[in-house]
Amino acid sequence: MAQAPPEQINAQFGGKSNLFAQTASGSSDSQDHNATGNAQLPKGVVLDKDGKPCRTCTSMSSWRALTKQAQADPSANTSSSSTTTSTNPLAAPATPSPSSIPSDCPPDVEALGRSTWTLLHSMAATYPEKADTKQQEDMGGFLKLFSRLYPCWVCADDFQGWMAHPSGNNRPKLGGRKEFGWWMCEAHNEVNRKLGKPEFDCRFWEERWRSGWKDGRCD
Ligand SMILES: Cc1cc2nc3c(=O)[nH]c(=O)nc-3n(C[C@H](O)[C@H](O)[C@H](O)COP(=O)(O)OP(=O)(O)OC[C@H]3O[C@@H](n4cnc5c(N)ncnc54)[C@H](O)[C@@H]3O)c2cc1C
Repeated sequence: MAQAPPEQINAQFGGKSNLFAQTASGSSDSQDHNATGNAQLPKGVVLDKDGKPCRTCTSMSSWRALTKQAQADPSANTSSSSTTTSTNPLAAPATPSPSSIPSDCPPDVEALGRSTWTLLHSMAATYPEKADTKQQEDMGGFLKLFSRLYPCWVCADDFQGWMAHPSGNNRPKLGGRKEFGWWMCEAHNEVNRKLGKPEFDCRFWEERWRSGWKDGRCD
């Protein structure tokens, strides 16, 4: 399927950051109307802080809807129809199965998430059983930077917010592998809950990410 190139999409949204002014959080849909006319974005499309569509914050299905719209109606962002500007990846229509997305395309929010969880849980799985001060500092520093630099900004904002909960209960637990792996599992479950996905039973994080399942299917 031919799609509008990123330049065309960006050109449509370039300089329109006020038009699509975002709420800081990705936790809810918002309806934004502008002074010069109404603009409409497909459901689930998340804008970057500069007002342009954020590919790594958006599911592939929503991205495709956006590129289709851009091709069909290059002036869609100033059309007179009603405006729905979503900051919530949850609002996206059903995502095409990963197998229907060519493997050499930029990641959408889900592919990015899956790969990142693989990295994060694997880091926990290979973390020392008992970490010394330097190892704890290194991992703490990594998580701090990671939560600022993660390429889906709405995800990053939420993750930072969760870690910084005033109770202090969500601060990374870095003493050793078991507690760090459990903490990572809880962090992931927090996102699962937000997205309406089933929670993972954290008693099994090590089988999933370190040793392989006891039934031997990973051996
Ligand atoms: C820090 C972070 C924040 C994110 N925030 C958002 C967001 O705000 N909005 C959004 O749309 N997407 C977000 N994502 C992406 C989202 O979490 C998923 O990765 C994505 O939706 C794909 O989900 P999935 O069902 O393929 O499995 P994933 O959630 O990616 O999980 C991959 C695999 O990990 C295992 N697993 C699942 N839960 C756990 C757990 N608790 N502990 C250990 N293993 C587990 C399962 O075997 C699963 O198949 C975020 C990702 C990250 C890394």
